[in-house]
Amino acid sequence: MAETRSTCPYCGVGCGVIIESDGTQISGVRGDPLHPANFGRLCSKGSTLHLTAAAPVTLRQRLLHPLRRPERGAAPQRLGWNEALSEAVDAFEGVIRRHGPDAVGFYLSGQLLTEDYYVFNKLAKGLVGTNNVDTNSRLCMSSAVAGYKATLGADAPPACYEDLAHARTLFIAGSNTAWAHPILMRRIEDAKRANPALRLIVVDPRRTETAALADLHLALQPGTDVALFHGLLHQMLWEGFTDNAYIAAHTSGFEALRSRVREFTLRETARITGLREADIVTAAKWFAGLDSGDGRRAPTLSLYCQGLNQSRNGTAKNAALINLHLACGQIGQPGAGPFSLTGQPNAMGGREVGGLSNLLSAHRDLANPAHRAEVARLWGVDDVPAQPGRTAVEMFEAAADGEIKALWIACTNPAQSLPDQATVRRALQRAEFVVVQEAFRDTATAAFADLLLPAASWGEKEGTVTNSERRISRVRAAVPAPGEARTDFSIATEFAQRLEARLRPGKPSLFPYAGPEAAWLEHRESTRGRDLDITGLSWAMLEGQGPQQWPLPEGATEGRQRLYEDGVFPTADGKAKFADLAYEPVAEPRDGRFPFSLNTGRLRDQWHGMSRTGVLGRLFGHVPEAAVELHPQEMARLKLAEGELVHVTSRRGSIVLPAVASEAVPLTQAFIPMHWGSEFVSGRSSRGEPLAGVNVLTSPTFCPISKQPELKHAAVKLLKA
Ligand code: SF4
Repeated sequence: MAETRSTCPYCGVGCGVIIESDGTQISGVRGDPLHPANFGRLCSKGSTLHLTAAAPVTLRQRLLHPLRRPERGAAPQRLGWNEALSEAVDAFEGVIRRHGPDAVGFYLSGQLLTEDYYVFNKLAKGLVGTNNVDTNSRLCMSSAVAGYKATLGADAPPACYEDLAHARTLFIAGSNTAWAHPILMRRIEDAKRANPALRLIVVDPRRTETAALADLHLALQPGTDVALFHGLLHQMLWEGFTDNAYIAAHTSGFEALRSRVREFTLRETARITGLREADIVTAAKWFAGLDSGDGRRAPTLSLYCQGLNQSRNGTAKNAALINLHLACGQIGQPGAGPFSLTGQPNAMGGREVGGLSNLLSAHRDLANPAHRAEVARLWGVDDVPAQPGRTAVEMFEAAADGEIKALWIACTNPAQSLPDQATVRRALQRAEFVVVQEAFRDTATAAFADLLLPAASWGEKEGTVTNSERRISRVRAAVPAPGEARTDFSIATEFAQRLEARLRPGKPSLFPYAGPEAAWLEHRESTRGRDLDITGLSWAMLEGQGPQQWPLPEGATEGRQRLYEDGVFPTADGKAKFADLAYEPVAEPRDGRFPFSLNTGRLRDQWHGMSRTGVLGRLFGHVPEAAVELHPQEMARLKLAEGELVHVTSRRGSIVLPAVASEAVPLTQAFIPMHWGSEFVSGRSSRGEPLAGVNVLTSPTFCPISKQPELKHAAVKLLKA
């Protein structure tokens, strides 16, 4: 029996696992007691990884061979890798030569490893000459990226998991940590046991399992977080809770923000958010940490996730919360700081290599000519295009409009996960050539592929990932991939090598990698002198010393646990900037026609579109089927019995689901889990096209800064079926 150390492929906690196998079949998994993210613990999803991996390949619907669809709607036919990659190169070269590089798009995933991401990013920006490379991380973390950059100067979460044990107050906003990041919740419970004085404030419209544990639950009206955070700052100023010495020494821009929050009086904040004035007063006092009476400021740590990020006001929500930390000096010390929780296992790694349409390698900015020149020099190309690429929603809108003609989709399922599914379907139908690189055969997106390329999955590939606390861990292969499946890294690299032979014949290869470590070394060099400098790290060090946090520059013996302890920030003047951003209500307020606020989110035991967790019966024991949750009074008002079917309709379409009563959901609100797709939740677009899943309903409206769509809110109506 062999044992292989690796990392859980589900969420951004990034737990270490030990895979047991006989070298051909995975037979067991347990938590890695030496991994600093989880110290041996695993949640229900992580602890059943071996069962999902060991299920027969037919049950898991693994894609085993390259497949080509001779024409749209026809059954796909098997072909060899050589022929498949030749077809892909012919199609992409043809589109690039006829319509220009911006007529192709690459849509990737926070599930890819850092090395996979690196190759795809270089392929698009360095070889093809387009910035049309974006990922499902846009749906997850781009508001956190923009929030950090607008305030602290770099996309770098300053805190670490150990800070949970040092905090006096935890401020959890827009995160059901108990279900979405269960191992972190165990650490919060440990911290509470060790320090009964630890206080928990939870900001969430629903009374989630996390909110149920709170000392103070702020059940605000959907989308009103910025008003709450501005109101808390107003209250802190009124009470004299701010740290004026810290503001003067380490920040800029406070006066503009002070005048912005003047209008967010207690009464006005309570009116907008629907909260009690007394609760806002308590939250401001606890956050500021000056209520112990000994004159010392107790540390506050904020944890936040999709409730802030998936919003048309996502950047402002993130920045307004970080403003509170800066105003109270609650940053750069044990137990204090803003801490975004990453949804996916490697959204952080993707950001590090610049795998979004507005970013460049090692946290460089596409808009900065000096940064573009640096990356072009590192890659050995003449230049990197300046024109920002299409972000996730924009990329599919451009394909639906006929502007993007070839799409390469890797390790993600946009025909289920993007908002406004009617537009996504039109995009996939209108594109001239769609490549889907996937481990699973029957995803909703696979049905639109002209070419299906079988990819290796968890336990079958090598590389690295970075978790929420900037910690880089190794991912290792325990068994070979089934059938003819190849790793994402080798598929991307071979396609890139074949395409460069056409686009820049006779020139040295941009992709001369013997394996993922070679690409990682190139990425490592690109970080030299940057905020995430890892020039002191090596795969040998990860082997010998275990997972490491960045930065870890040349000469350092270990990574840095916490950032900004010296009060110096990565901005031009070394000071953090208060972001003066306005509160905007949700894109679709409730009205007479659509009187309910729809909230979408994650369940404890399922992951994304369920292509992995959906094969295991025991993971349906928690929640067996998709349903719309409503307050019991709303069920009674609509004359709905438990389990009765109901049409849920937004401006974009309608789905049919059983209704279930839940005291956790406030009046005039509805909650639907995000996981179920076409086999379970049928519906129609507003034009009558057959569609499925909750994203028939959701809105493509996005934050103007981060371009992250408002998946967390849509106005809907409910009608008994
Ligand atoms: Fe995996 Fe996240 Fe669960 Fe850890 S908390 S075992 S990373 S799903």
